[in-house]
Parts: sequence; C-alpha cells; structure tokens
Amino acid sequence: MLKLYNTLTQQKEEFKSFDPSGKLARIYVCGVTPYDTSHMGHALVAALFDVLRRYLKHSGYEAIHVQNLTDIDDDIIKKARKEGQPYDELGRRWDALYRDGLRAINCLPFDNYVPASTVIGPIQKMIATLVEKNAAYQASDGNVYFRASGFPEYGELSHLDLAQMLEKARAGAEDSLADAPGNPAKESDLDFILWQAAKPDEPSWDSPWGEGRPGWHIECSAISTQSLGQQFEIHGGGADLIFPHHSSEIAQSETYSGKSPVVRYWMHVAMLYLGGEKMSKSLGNLILINDALKKNSADALRIYLLGHEHYRTPLHFTQAGVDRAEQYADLFRKALAQEAAFGETDLKPYVNRFYAAMDDDLDIPAAIGVMIELAKGIIENELDFRGQEHLRYMSGLLGLPLAQD
Ligand SMILES: [Zn+2]
Repeated sequence: MLKLYNTLTQQKEEFKSFDPSGKLARIYVCGVTPYDTSHMGHALVAALFDVLRRYLKHSGYEAIHVQNLTDIDDDIIKKARKEGQPYDELGRRWDALYRDGLRAINCLPFDNYVPASTVIGPIQKMIATLVEKNAAYQASDGNVYFRASGFPEYGELSHLDLAQMLEKARAGAEDSLADAPGNPAKESDLDFILWQAAKPDEPSWDSPWGEGRPGWHIECSAISTQSLGQQFEIHGGGADLIFPHHSSEIAQSETYSGKSPVVRYWMHVAMLYLGGEKMSKSLGNLILINDALKKNSADALRIYLLGHEHYRTPLHFTQAGVDRAEQYADLFRKALAQEAAFGETDLKPYVNRFYAAMDDDLDIPAAIGVMIELAKGIIENELDFRGQEHLRYMSGLLGLPLAQD
C-alpha cells in the first residue's frame, strides 16, 4: 500500500484517490520558466514525478500528469529585451530544449502541458470570482491583489511563522517589487499579485482591471482547476515553491471553489546543491542535462539523482557519485544480458523488499539497493531467470532503459 509524505500534515499518509472510482491519481507539477538552460535540478524534479507516475500506474491507478509552462514572466521579458528578440520566441526555444532534456533522461511526456498564455480567460474568470467574493482587490497601483488576511490558513503549508513568511516573501519579490512586503499600495504585507497592470513595452491582455498580465501563483491555480478539477490528489514541485507559491495556490483555489482541501498530498523535492550552494540559474552553478549526458548515461543520471538520497533529503551533486551510479547501471545491464539459470530460487525476499521500499514514500535509494543485490545474485548464478524478469520490470518502474550497446 503506497504511502506518501504530505508537506501539509508532515506525515506519511496512505494514498487514496478523491475520485468516486477510487482509481484516478491526478498529479499537478509546477513547470519551468523558459528563459535559460535546463539543469540537474529540473532533471531531479522531473525524474521523481516520472517515477511516481509509473509507480501509480503499476499500483492500479490511472495517473494523469499535468504541468504548466510559465511563458509570461519578468525573467523572460528581461532576457528577451537584452537579447533583442520577441519574448515568445525566446520562451519557445528554451521550452523545446527543456523538453528535449527530459526526453533524453527518459521521462514520459506530460499528459497535458499548458502554457500560461493559453489560459488568460480562465485566469481572469478566477480573479473576477475572487474579487466578487471580496477575497481580492484592485489597489491604487492598478494591480489586483489577493487579500491574505481573508484566508486564515494562509501559509499553513509552509509551517513558517509570520516573520519567516515575510522574509521569504521579501526574498522572492526581488524582481517583482509589487509583491514585496512594504509596498504601500497593498492592504497588508502578505497580499500577493493576481493581475499586474501593464508596463510599457510588455506583453499584456485586456481585462476588467485594465491592460495587464497574470501573476505567477494564479496561473497554477487556474491551470490545475481547469485540467484536473477543483480537488485533486497530488501537487508537486521543488521544496523552494512551498512558500509563497504553493501556499498562495491553496488560498486562491480554495477560496474560488469553496472546497477544501484543493490537494490531498503535497509532495516536495529537496534542493540540489553544487559546491555547497543551491544549484540555480541566479548563482550560475549549473550542471546542464546535455553536458551531463556527454559523460554518463541517462540510466546513471536517474540512478544517481533518485537513488543517492531520498527525494526529501537535499542532494549534494558530485561527479564521483554519478560515476558510481554508472557502475550500478552497468551491473544491471550485465545481469540482464547474461544467460540465466533455470530453477526455482526464492525471489520473494527481493521482490517484497523492493515494493515495500517503493510504497514507503518512494524510498528509491532502498529500492535500488535491492536491485543491486538482485543483479549480483543473477550474475553469480544464484538466482534463476525470473530474477531477470523482476529486475527488468523494476528498472522500468524507475524509468531506466538499460539499453545494451
Ligand atoms: Zn506552480
């Protein structure tokens, strides 16, 4: 029985579908802002939710993965200006490279991939309802803000106190001063942007609140509601999105629909570090997916990213770690290629431990540990050919093609 750790309750909980059929597993994962290269941090998040999806299917659920593309954003607009090219062309180019990278590490395509620019209507409908419900207001600066004080549970997901939330809001608002605490146009410091008034030479859309464009948080509420419904099973993303992004999504979606919880299981992937610092575009300490694939196989990258640490433990990237993962990939390949014995060896200890690990909040490091033992047993001729069948199936669940060359 699959248990998942829920950031909201800080507990591992048995997975159950909201849907009357009991079989739907709707997953929404926050996507990228396409203005720069795709790196190992993106690969880690994508690979984890790719395995979750494969494992839910294995467990008998119909898993649906929806992801957004933040194709209207300050970062894209800034970079496009710097490079002197249209912002949408720049976004399309980097998005294509992002998806090439995910394909190269064997992630299944998303069931539904929604650019924010294609859902301006649903976004405006949601904002209009929030304004009608007095949960949002247009301020003197022309922007529309969500009234955080009207949602007493605001920020619960983060388990932060008010001072910590304000600190995070301040740090995250570097590029969008309107969202920062202390903006005098806002009624209170935690209020966040739903619709921002157009600035000169920026992409904008007509709206009841004047020309402008949507804020980032409302984009995900609108896309998840439209694609998966007002309540769905799993929402995922990097741990850096818990506050304010996911906390704001809860406030918007639940106020809009009047239903709670909007999401049953909040899953967050811990950050990836390189040289002691978080791997990020702004710090420039990136390992790009394409560069990593020049040195190692996609199998090794997945084994390393998912198997070196549990997904909720921060991972400190090292090339030595990936090289060790390559040795495990070779071990699996060798075990699968070998002529295996016929016989009646007892495989249950391996099989039971593998699935127990996966059921335990996707303990992939433990699951890979079992696969290593299984592969060694096959190579040493202690296990019969059914061991290979199990190993091949387990590899499929982890998205390892293990192609022989
Ligand atoms: Zn999002």
